[in-house]
Amino acid sequence: MLESIKPPGVDQHEERQHNMDSLNGTPTPEPRDEPKSSRRFFVLAGSLFLAGCATRSKTVVSSLPDPWWTPTTMPDPKASKPKSPAVAAVPPTGVIARSAWAGGNPVPSRMDANRSISRITIHHDGMQPFTDTSYKAAARRLESIRRAHLGRKPQRFGDIGYHYAIDPAGRIWSCRPLSYQGAHVKGQNPGNLGIVVLGNYDKQSVNRAQQVALAAFLSAQSRQYRVPVSRIYTHQEMSPTACPGRSLQKYMVQARRNGTIA
Ligand SMILES: [Zn+2]
Repeated sequence: MLESIKPPGVDQHEERQHNMDSLNGTPTPEPRDEPKSSRRFFVLAGSLFLAGCATRSKTVVSSLPDPWWTPTTMPDPKASKPKSPAVAAVPPTGVIARSAWAGGNPVPSRMDANRSISRITIHHDGMQPFTDTSYKAAARRLESIRRAHLGRKPQRFGDIGYHYAIDPAGRIWSCRPLSYQGAHVKGQNPGNLGIVVLGNYDKQSVNRAQQVALAAFLSAQSRQYRVPVSRIYTHQEMSPTACPGRSLQKYMVQARRNGTIA
């Protein structure tokens, strides 16, 4: 997450060649080659309070979370031996389809294929607190994050950076197709399943519905991809950032320790 940032916040990520893990809160310049619709969005977004998930700094960023890009071909030693031959693009049952909320299709040319899943990382979006449990509100928030990620500088993301999102009602939303590598932790995206909990958990608490959803979904993903609990991380455990916020970090530490996530 990018804390204290303004627009539709997003967390920190890393796309094919970019990473949103903002370590220093560097202001993100306005996109110069965006379609008109996107530019309008950014203007709108600039009036919103956004945060992304990757900065400890309290520096106020002008607009969107900072993406950081890494070499497209950068290998990940830890992911060199896939635990599954290929990652299916079909989300698990009970997960709301990407098509239910996304205003556009992914841009494959900006993303790398996801060849395996060997670790999982939890984020918050780091924007303003979000407690609305309605379906529509969550869909709108996801779309704002997707559009922010698509306009990231210096290189635009191919889609929202996370693979899944959990809303205040505990719903699970499919985001970036699993067939594509995520863009959510600087330098650590290969083999990394990205899950964002909508909201700002430095300013709000993880509610019961979200705790139940996190425990069930993470346990299921752990089993499906044979990812041990020891490889389920929070963003701040992988890079210097306040993401996923104090409340969510505390929950994750406890849930992994007491077996709630297993
Ligand atoms: Zn994050």
